[in-house]
Amino acid sequence: MTAPTPADFFTPRLLTCDLLYTGLGGAQSPGGVVVVGDTVAATGHPDELRRAYPQARETAVGGVIAPPPVNAHTHLDMSAYDFRALPYFRWIPEVVVGQRERRGVAGALAGAQELARLRVGGVGDIVFAPDVMDALLDHADLTGVLYFELFAPKPDLADETLARLRELVTAWRRRERPGGLRLGVTPHTPFTVSARLMRLAAEFAAGEGLPMQIHVAEHPSERELFATGAGPLWDNRLKALMPDTFAEVIGRDPHPDLTPVRYLDELGVLAARPTLVHMVNVTPDDVARVARAGCAVVTCPRSNHHLECGVFPWAAFAAAGVEVALGTDSVASGESLDVREEVAFARQLHPALDPRVIVRAAVKGGHRVLGSRAPFIRRGEAWRDEYVWADYTGA
Ligand SMILES: [Zn+2]
Repeated sequence: MTAPTPADFFTPRLLTCDLLYTGLGGAQSPGGVVVVGDTVAATGHPDELRRAYPQARETAVGGVIAPPPVNAHTHLDMSAYDFRALPYFRWIPEVVVGQRERRGVAGALAGAQELARLRVGGVGDIVFAPDVMDALLDHADLTGVLYFELFAPKPDLADETLARLRELVTAWRRRERPGGLRLGVTPHTPFTVSARLMRLAAEFAAGEGLPMQIHVAEHPSERELFATGAGPLWDNRLKALMPDTFAEVIGRDPHPDLTPVRYLDELGVLAARPTLVHMVNVTPDDVARVARAGCAVVTCPRSNHHLECGVFPWAAFAAAGVEVALGTDSVASGESLDVREEVAFARQLHPALDPRVIVRAAVKGGHRVLGSRAPFIRRGEAWRDEYVWADYTGA
């Protein structure tokens, strides 16, 4: 192949795809983009673009043209873990705790590098330890939110945990850079953080303007725990760290009608508009509460599948007007950090859902979670090759 001449460079190129999302409005199918030089000249239906640019050289690029998708929920500090599929209540003790010596800075930096290589549109990362936060703030070439994780089920630890959080966050926030990584807070789950700490953390996050994520309603055993105070999740609990009864954690008795979402709502936590991660095992009342509160939701389809959690009721959330984003979760349950693979898996898992909704969620929903904005693909904007989702394998 000979080197392109200047005339070639300015010959319009028409790139066509199955699905185009420009970052504005809804996605369209099929779609096309006309590029002149390195600038977008037009977007739209391929037939219209062929009429308007009859001299354009046409290339079918395949699946999707869209801004890079956002990985809205992951655990980069677990990137050195081995992947293992197990029911959630066994996966926590056998994998998360069992491989805990692999958790830390080295994995986090390797994971951050992998996300940079994948040219992710942004990341929502759960950070388990202060040294990991230090390392990611200094080294990661990413945009998004680093959520510092709280894990303290004993109510008598709530005040000292919050005081420590306040101290750490105050120091870390001085190192936030515009366009870089921002600080956030994440109480781990509604059953591993006491009611008192959950409330204090939500008040703190709302007062400081810190984004918040919480893992909620991931596995059916979590629902069972709130209904009965028992079940496999409690039987497999991290015994030394947990109080004697579940009622001590949540400050009230479990009840057949009590769900994790209802509990957080009644505690006042949803009013701080946390992003709720997973939300697989929910009731219609839960969906209505989340919609009323204006919380966004992150789904991690491969992780949910591998941990036998069930299928995220995407259509119910979409019908209620809840913003949905996608995340890979850690490699230990999601298998890879590539959110394009998550999109492809979601398409197979939700065959009745319009694929345009899933692609838009991976871009727009993710940016909504991170409080950022997707680049637009429109006339006059720079064209970037990563807008073609080459790794996207959805059928
Ligand atoms: Zn997670």
